[in-house]
Amino acid sequence: MFSKILIANRGEIALRIIRACKQLGIHTVIAHSEADKDSLPVRLADEKVCIGPANATNSYLNQRAIVSAAKITGSQAIHPGYGFLSENADFAALIEESGLIFIGPTADNIRKMGDKVAAKEQMTMAGVPCVPGSEGALPTKPEQVIKIAKDVGYPVIIKAASGGGGRGMRVVEKEADLLSAIAMTQTEAKANFGSSIVYLEKYLQAPRHIEIQVLSDTHGNAIYLGERDCSMQRRHQKVIEEAPAPGITETQRQQIGQACARACQKMQYRGAGTFEFLYENGEFFFIEMNTRVQVEHTITEMITGVDIVREQIRVAAGLSLAHKQSDIAITGHAFECRINAENANTFLPNAGRIDYCHMPAGFGVRVDSHIESNYTVPPSYDSLIAKICVHDHSREQAITKMQAALSEAQITGIDTNIGLHQRLFKDKVFCDGQMSIHYLAEWIQDNI
Ligand code: ADP
Repeated sequence: MFSKILIANRGEIALRIIRACKQLGIHTVIAHSEADKDSLPVRLADEKVCIGPANATNSYLNQRAIVSAAKITGSQAIHPGYGFLSENADFAALIEESGLIFIGPTADNIRKMGDKVAAKEQMTMAGVPCVPGSEGALPTKPEQVIKIAKDVGYPVIIKAASGGGGRGMRVVEKEADLLSAIAMTQTEAKANFGSSIVYLEKYLQAPRHIEIQVLSDTHGNAIYLGERDCSMQRRHQKVIEEAPAPGITETQRQQIGQACARACQKMQYRGAGTFEFLYENGEFFFIEMNTRVQVEHTITEMITGVDIVREQIRVAAGLSLAHKQSDIAITGHAFECRINAENANTFLPNAGRIDYCHMPAGFGVRVDSHIESNYTVPPSYDSLIAKICVHDHSREQAITKMQAALSEAQITGIDTNIGLHQRLFKDKVFCDGQMSIHYLAEWIQDNI
């Protein structure tokens, strides 16, 4: 096991990793920006190194500065958290070339799964069902493209092979719009992601977003930890997540979970990962894999009792997974509300000083957050400031528990979306588990 780990991240996930390290008896070093120098994770880490100014390009994205900080402090491994450099294959390669360990998949794993066309090919080979569409990148000949779209059937969605964060996608309703939509997506993809390769998929009308959490070690063991439903999204950003997904049977869970675990073994995947699917009419369709710990890993931890960050660290150190598939049982139901510093009506990020902060607690309530009274939320980063999670025996009880937890949460001085969550946890469609990925956008249109 490692004796010292450098954390190349900030906010709640930095704190989450520090806590896992403390429990494993590992010394922590945090690489932080000037803007975060007084933050809770920086105060709680055993050592700190300032790697640059607030602007993330010169700090949290500065690969050389992070690796130097790890070397100077004698750290053996680097945990990237989520966002920033967590899915950057070059960063993973640089770390390994420097003789350190990247707490995450291999650079090769990240590269393969980061290219969505290559990822779909891998999944098809491993027997994981994908959204029907073009086999690989779209050809250049217009007549071939038109035929592919016709065979798949309209509406279709054009997607950038290297796209991410909900960008680089365009829905096409009819043949007349196809070629111009492809040209526009290619131009955008080139500008944003450096590659103009695009592919085509059937556009599913009202699917749910369901994802499978996996863990895989370097000894050929891979397990799945059930699924999460993340259909409550605004502009492809998740707002509420729950586990397990309403209505999924144990047989369905096993089938799709086993397919994902097999895919991990086949590609010699290392660490934690998530297979994202669209789910419609009882069928799963793979869309992409996230090769990192996710924001919503907490609710899977609550229903399985498995510490995902601890397993990431153990696997990176070369140890076998601490759990076998037969040890994993799903107990009860969990929800996560993402608390963002944002305006309740415009959804625009709202940085500034928090005068007073009180977060809920109690049996079955978990809050992962770095904020506190008198803390100033810097404008330079993501607006996520807290994750309020609850766990109870049933979905109904978990809903009641979340309502109670939200009623206790108080953040004054800045705007947050706590009020939005309070309203959503009283909404009948959501409380009945009847939402598709479009539901929240429709709800917002009708209610805000
Ligand atoms: P990103 O990497 O940018 O997050 P994804 O491929 O995961 O892109 O897609 C993001 C979201 O876009 C999905 O959660 C879903 O809401 C929508 N989406 C993607 N592909 C399709 C599809 N084939 N049909 C309908 N919606 C889709």
